[in-house]
Amino acid sequence: MPMGLIVKALSGYYYVMPDAAEDSNPIQCRARGIFKKRGISPLVGDRVRFSLTENGEGTVDEILPRSSELVRPPVANVDLVVLVFSIDEPQLNLPLLDKFLVHTESAGLDAHICLTKQDLAAGNPEVQDVEAGVHMSLTDVIRLYESIGYSVSLTSAKEEIGVDVVLDRLAGCISVFAGQSGVGKSSLLNAMVPGLSLETNQISMKLGRGKHTTRHVELIRLNNGGIVADTPGFSSLDFLQVDAEGLGSCFREFAEYAQQCRFRGCLHQHEPGCKVQEAKENGDIAASRYEHYLHFLSEIKDKKRRY
Ligand code: GDP
Ligand code: ZN
Repeated sequence: MPMGLIVKALSGYYYVMPDAAEDSNPIQCRARGIFKKRGISPLVGDRVRFSLTENGEGTVDEILPRSSELVRPPVANVDLVVLVFSIDEPQLNLPLLDKFLVHTESAGLDAHICLTKQDLAAGNPEVQDVEAGVHMSLTDVIRLYESIGYSVSLTSAKEEIGVDVVLDRLAGCISVFAGQSGVGKSSLLNAMVPGLSLETNQISMKLGRGKHTTRHVELIRLNNGGIVADTPGFSSLDFLQVDAEGLGSCFREFAEYAQQCRFRGCLHQHEPGCKVQEAKENGDIAASRYEHYLHFLSEIKDKKRRY
């Protein structure tokens, strides 16, 4: 039975791109009744076995196990989330960046940090993080996240700078772009994918259309083997889907210190013998990251109290 990838779902049909013929058109398939009975529905991104029916259509017969399942946009088997943040207009929001990183870490997804609108940055601008009371230069921000282990790109869709770097990062992955509205996600996707023309803010404002018209997610095959969702993902996360004990492990650079804390289950707040606090004092953990950690921790605890 041939295998393929669901690249689009619309009105009860699933469009399956067969593995065998890379540049053929997707096959319009119905899902077998058995899925509905079991309460499973195929998702875009699913690897499936399918069979052809007489009218040139097909049937999805089996869904292979998923490695991940994203809710917004609804895509299975995503391996990489490109977190898009503009340097200016809107200003680089470090607390939100760290929150998104907690989200990707807790979901077991890799993240690439893509900084956009490089053309608006004169020299090495100062990034203000009011929440943490920290100022850093843009270069320091990039260095910080690279030192933690994230890849970072500096791009301008307007001047076509750095777009190739992002493209290279997407090779071999199923990826989704995420970020606040207005940071330039659509512009970047348009710059990367030949023939794609997603509406950007400016155009949708001109047409007087809301930004939140529902779109159907579709996967686009890049010519380097990467697959990217054409619908940007989460734009804000009001609360974190992590418990207090699990939060620390979503901060990658805490790990080596956390395992040396005196108490098991240390929350790295005021506990004696806490190596994470010590590393922050020594400057081995960035103040901004630690402050955001404390902030998220109290958010999580507040939420628990309320419900
Ligand atoms: P999205 O909401 O994240 O999809 O952002 P859009 O792609 O719609 O872009 C939002 C606004 O930022 C639009 O007015 C774009 O023209 C503008 N924009 C996008 N990329 C760049 C860039 O690289 N440089 C500058 N100066 N403006 C950009
Ligand atoms: Zn600790």
